[in-house]
Order: sequence, then C-alpha cells, then structure tokens
Amino acid sequence: MALLYKSTRNPENVVSASQAILQGLAIDGGLYVPTEIPKADLDFAKLARQSYQEIAAQIMQLFLPDFSQEELSECIEQAYDQKFEDKEITPLVKAGDQYYLELFHGPTLAFKDIALSILPYLMKKAAQKNHSDKEIVILTATSGDTGKSAMEGFANVENTQIIVFYPENGVSPIQKRQMLTQKGKNTSVAAIEGNFDDAQTKVKQLFNDENLRAKMARNNKVFSSANSINIGRLVPQIVYYVYAYSRLVKSGEIKNGEEINVSVPTGNFGNILAGFYAKKIGVPIRHLICASNQNNVLTDFFQTGNYDRNRPFYVTSSPSMDILVSSNLERLIFYLTKEDSKQTTKLMKELNENGKYTITPEMKEGLTDFLADFASEKETSQTVRKMYERSNYVIDPHTAVATCVAEKYQEKEELSTVVLSTASPYKFPQSVLQAIKKQATTKEDFAALEEVKQYVDRPLPESIQELEHAKINHKVKISAEQMTAYVEKVLDLS
Ligand SMILES: *Cc1c(COP(=O)(O)O)cnc(C)c1O
Repeated sequence: MALLYKSTRNPENVVSASQAILQGLAIDGGLYVPTEIPKADLDFAKLARQSYQEIAAQIMQLFLPDFSQEELSECIEQAYDQKFEDKEITPLVKAGDQYYLELFHGPTLAFKDIALSILPYLMKKAAQKNHSDKEIVILTATSGDTGKSAMEGFANVENTQIIVFYPENGVSPIQKRQMLTQKGKNTSVAAIEGNFDDAQTKVKQLFNDENLRAKMARNNKVFSSANSINIGRLVPQIVYYVYAYSRLVKSGEIKNGEEINVSVPTGNFGNILAGFYAKKIGVPIRHLICASNQNNVLTDFFQTGNYDRNRPFYVTSSPSMDILVSSNLERLIFYLTKEDSKQTTKLMKELNENGKYTITPEMKEGLTDFLADFASEKETSQTVRKMYERSNYVIDPHTAVATCVAEKYQEKEELSTVVLSTASPYKFPQSVLQAIKKQATTKEDFAALEEVKQYVDRPLPESIQELEHAKINHKVKISAEQMTAYVEKVLDLS
C-alpha cells in the first residue's frame, strides 16, 4: 500500500502526502505523520557521487509518493538554484573536532531556507493535484527566521498570501529588519506584544477557529502552515542528513556504515525530527543530540520524562531557540506511545491545560535515539570564541549551542560528530563580536557587522549588506488578542 499520512490525534484521519502539505495542521489539532516508515535502500557509495538535488529527488519521493519524480525534480530545480550561495547547497566543513553541515547559504542566511524555498512549489503542485482553486493563506508564527524565510519563498507566488507574526522583542535587529523590508504584494507582517509561544498558540487557535474557517471558505480561501508542523517542511530537511553522511563517506572521513552522532540546535523540534526520520530510513546515526539554550525544557524532558513549560522564559543570544512549547515533539510522543492517538491526545491536552505532562516509563525507554543537554549563555559565547581562536572558524550562537553540547558528549562517546550549523554568523553580529572580543559592545547590529567581516573568511552576502538602507514596508504592531481581527482585515473577509 502506498504511504499516506495520518493525524497523531485520530488514526482515521488519513490523507495523501499532497493533502497533508495543503492542510499543514490536521483538522483535529493533530500533526500528520506517515502511515509507515518508507523502505529505503541507501547506497552511500552511490549517493556520494550524486548532487544534493539528485539525493533530494530520491529521498523526497520516498515520503511524498503522490508526487511524480518529474514533479519533484521540477520543484527541486526551482528551489535549489543560484539563490543558494554555495553550489553544494549544504556544504560539509571540518573545523576543530567536528564536521559542520552549513545549512545557511540560502537567501535569508538560516537553515529554514532549505525547506521554505521548496515548500511554495510543493504547495502549488499539491493544489493542482487536488483540483483546488482556493487561495492558500499561509499563517506563520516566527521566532525570527521562519517568517523571513517563508515570505522570501512565497512572495509573489500566485494564488498565495502569507501573514507572519513575530514577538516584538524576541528577534534580533537584523531579523526584524529582514522582515520589515520584505517586498511582495501578498506578504504581511505584524509584531506581537508577547513572546513566540504567545504568537504560536494564537496561530494554532486561528487554524482551529470554525467561524474563521467558514468565512475563509466563503471567500474561496484556505489556511495552511509554513511552520515545521507541515510535513512539507520536514521532508526536505531529511535530505541533508543523508547528504551529510554521503559526504563523510566520499571524503573518506568515515567508513561506509560507520555510526556518527549529529548535534542539532533545537527549538520547535522540527530539524531534529527530520534527523529522526533519516535515522529510521537507514542513515547510520547512533545519537541525535538535542541541544538547547537556557530555555532547556527539552533537556529536562529527555533526562526526566517530565515536560514542563511552567518556568521563566529567557531571551537569549540564540533567539530562534527561545521556545518553551516545541510543536513537533507531539510527533515523537506519538511514536513513543507506539502510535496510540488516544494517549497522545491526552498528553497534549494536559500540556495545553496545565503546561506539563509526564510520559510513562515504557515511553521513556523509547528515547534511546536521543541525547540531550543545554548550553548556558556563557558557554555559548565561550564556544564561539574558542572555535575562532582554535580553528579560525566563526560560528553563530545557535551553532555554538550545538557545538558546546556535542563536546560534552564527545568526551564520553568517541564518534564522528556532525554539528548542524543553522545560521550564518553574519545574522547575529553583535553576539559574535562580543564573544570573539571577549567584551561587551555598544555597537548596534549593523555597525557590528562591519567589524565581524574581518573575522569571517567569507564575504558579506549582498542581501545583508543592502538591509540597513532598505525601505521599511511593514509597520503593524498588535496584541495577540487582535490577531483574528488583523487576519480578517488583511484578507478582506466578509
Ligand atoms: C529555527 C531555528 C532553529 C531551531 O530549529 P527547530 O526546527 O525549530 O528545532 C535553530 N537555529 C536556527 C538559526 C533557526 O532558525
């Protein structure tokens, strides 16, 4: 039987891959997961000779069987072209004791570009396949990087609109400016008073608001999501785990079949979940290392089995990981319950009502694929400096969190470790500069950029250079309560 997708909260809610991409979130509030793990026959000696795009076509076909190989190849060609600075798309670089998979060579300098440059094309094809002429409206809450990356992907794509919400004081000056200067008639951005979780919770409510849904239908529009709850985001991310392993084999750094660890700077649990699927289809990964910053709710969860979001929220130097409710964890929970949707629903309800839940001892035994730890702000900064001093390699704070946690385990487990490098150091120049110079700076992000340039042995991308003087196109600031009204106004719903 072909691979389909079912909701984590209702096994009878089954849809095709293209329908799952169109819907984003399941109507019952659950997340779509594949009905089975596809059988892959990964021949890494062969994959080592193939391009990123060729590997992408094979891996995505496994998870999206109702797309033809031609359709996927067309999407892949449109997504992974010159808008990526590096021909390899996600080059693997050795520095210090680790291998860095650089996922930040796309248009917005963060790893979200890998999935979000292909998602609009997948959605367009999915709409055609399902004979839908409805306008697709993307609603997205962002901790900084998703918003810009999604707007960049969807800007001026016909029959789509995109509305982005970001926490007013939770993103870096460069991230904010990237969003506010976004072009494209079909893009809207609003700052929200509150943090990322407030914005994300409200976006989820909007998706499930029946009144709003009915109004949308009357206006021939339908909501979808560009957040990592959409399997159209997850599947393209599985590709680079396969790619990374193929390059380690190609360069002779490891023997074909040898196990590796992968350290992932984690927020919403999307990136690492893609790694979990990569492991399931046969990439020889022993441990997926879940690296958190000071908002270490996941570290506690993996170590104790208790998930508890009732704790202080910290604004850190790695803002894209400042998250206390990691949406994609629901998919892992579903697997830990051995695909029991009743139990999954119950735990998610507890999370919603009390902000916490505890998994059973049997479920906890299923966590052997993962290791988890966190890096404090001080450790993060020290790691940036150490990498520069020892290896002349400049990393951003998110990547530093993953490096720091990887090192904690490398002392115990002698395996080659791939660190996922999720953002360019140019995206967080102030933190990088303070770390390298070992002193606070009064410089604003743009002034800091000029100075960071001298440490990074890669030119400043034009998209960042232009940013300081680009025209501001978006100025809206609202409370979370006003989001419904804002959406209705933008979409002119009656
Ligand atoms: C989004 C993001 C993360 C976290 O990824 P998740 O898939 O949400 O876990 C880490 N680093 C950067 C730079 C990001 O933009």
